Amino acid sequence: MNSSAHAASRMIADLVIPAIPDDERLWVPQAKGVWFRPLFFNTVSGEWVNLLRVRRSGVLSRHRHPAPVHGFVLKGEWRYLEHDWVAREGTYVFEPPGEVHTLVVDDDCAEMITLFHVCGALIYYTEQGEPAGHDDVHTKLDMCRRHFTATGLGEDYVDQFVR
Ligand code: FE
Repeated sequence: MNSSAHAASRMIADLVIPAIPDDERLWVPQAKGVWFRPLFFNTVSGEWVNLLRVRRSGVLSRHRHPAPVHGFVLKGEWRYLEHDWVAREGTYVFEPPGEVHTLVVDDDCAEMITLFHVCGALIYYTEQGEPAGHDDVHTKLDMCRRHFTATGLGEDYVDQFVR
């Protein structure tokens, strides 16, 4: 084995998958009318990448991120109540750490799909500003394990997305 092959053998495996799956079971229910499709979980840095799919309108969540989020809209559109911009198909969004914002999908959007790279967590807040739980790489992994068990894929199915 030459030195570059030796180095390559120690690399973490790449991950190349269809982002939008053919199998509906890969959409993990997050809430009524809301699903996520797991793509990548990093249990060391705490970040994850997923597609968020929403098929209902109204307020989805008010939340704060302690670390950056990057988003790319694949379908439909959404906005944050705190801002005057709209994230439309093809839009890239950077969400700075520290901001609290309220995700809304408007009535005229039947379905939105957005890729989110979340570098930390979502800390949820009520309308009154009280903390109301959180999601992080481990809560997302747990949701996947439960859903993949229930749908017959098996809880280990999620392991392919973990690095
Ligand atoms: Fe956000």
